[in-house]
Amino acid sequence: MASQARSHAHLHLAPERCVLCRLCQINCPEQALQVTPEAHTWSFREERCTRCGRCL
Ligand code: SF4
Repeated sequence: MASQARSHAHLHLAPERCVLCRLCQINCPEQALQVTPEAHTWSFREERCTRCGRCL
């Protein structure tokens, strides 16, 4: 999902690399990520993201 070296300034999303494991959702303290493996979908609410890097 978000693939880039840890950074507090910028996130780069790479949906083609997502395996729907939900680790990013579990690690996000802001509930900015929502992964639905059953539907093979995920969403990112950028307005919630603090760029903490915990999902990377
Ligand atoms: S950088 Fe932090 S706040 Fe933003 S999506 Fe990742 S874990 Fe959530």
